[in-house]
Amino acid sequence: MKAQILDGKKVAEEVRAAIKKEVDEIKSKGGHIPGLAVVLVGENPASKVYVGQKEKKCKEVGFNSFLHKLPASTTEGELLKLIETLNNDKAVDGILVQLPLPQQIDSDKILKAIDPSKDVDGFHPMNMGYLVAGLPAVHPCTPKGIMYLLDAYGIEIEGKHAVVVGRSNIVGKPIAHLLLDRNATVTICHSRTKDLGAITRQADIIVAAVGRPRMITGSMVKEGAVVVDVGINRLEEGLVGDVDFETVGDVASWITPVPGGVGPLTIAMLLKNTLEAGRKSER
Ligand code: NAP
Repeated sequence: MKAQILDGKKVAEEVRAAIKKEVDEIKSKGGHIPGLAVVLVGENPASKVYVGQKEKKCKEVGFNSFLHKLPASTTEGELLKLIETLNNDKAVDGILVQLPLPQQIDSDKILKAIDPSKDVDGFHPMNMGYLVAGLPAVHPCTPKGIMYLLDAYGIEIEGKHAVVVGRSNIVGKPIAHLLLDRNATVTICHSRTKDLGAITRQADIIVAAVGRPRMITGSMVKEGAVVVDVGINRLEEGLVGDVDFETVGDVASWITPVPGGVGPLTIAMLLKNTLEAGRKSER
């Protein structure tokens, strides 16, 4: 193992500690305490786990947390009504609707109904558009967390060739734009990309966001590259990423582990987005 570890767990702890300090100060001055509303529809076990983690971290930093648990039979109209109520609630700075939603509800319609200034997930088309245009916006948590982690370790981005594997709206596309904004030369790969290895071998920075266990292997990585593994794949042996940690660790200069890499930063950035939304609402 040659690569050094990009320790997301440690960096996320530092972010949460700084947020808690700011919230303690707000409380001591009698200011507005940031509030996050989390909406969970149905009984998806993974969603329940994610929502539980978000609620716990919210409470740890001293935020107000409002959990809205709705039955799987909830209609689109009922959910839109709740979103409207939360949009108008001054105690709520951030609204997070846990995806996936049940079939009868159009997720795009729900995400569009959230007030963009309370869209702490950064999924509203207005925030996505601002991000692409390089204008101030709420950035989605996972890409924002990746940038934060790279910066925390002083990884140079300007002028580097960054290869993003995956083009989803929540990870691949936004991280490609954030890297481009910082003057990386960016290539985006996807399921129809021919000879993926030939492209990843040119990369100074690789971001793998695919959802395929250990698909990026050592032979696909240039000596000294920085490798960020976004993948979360649940196998019988436990959680594994999209990067083969053993073989890639022998050639990369820096690598994120799974778990303990990008994942903890995602929740930390959700808290950061909520804190920032709260600051704006106080003005
Ligand atoms: P997604 O929406 O399923 O997108 C996967 C992307 O990978 C698609 O763009 C797909 O290409 C591409 N792809 C599939 N097979 C490929 C192949 N053989 N070669 C190259 N590209 C291929 O997934 P996502 O939501 O972006 O998530 C990706 C992974 O990150 C998942 O494991 C997810 O659990 C994890 N994740 C982790 C966090 C975190 O906090 N750590 C947050 C979000 C997601 P096409 O567009 O051509 O289909």
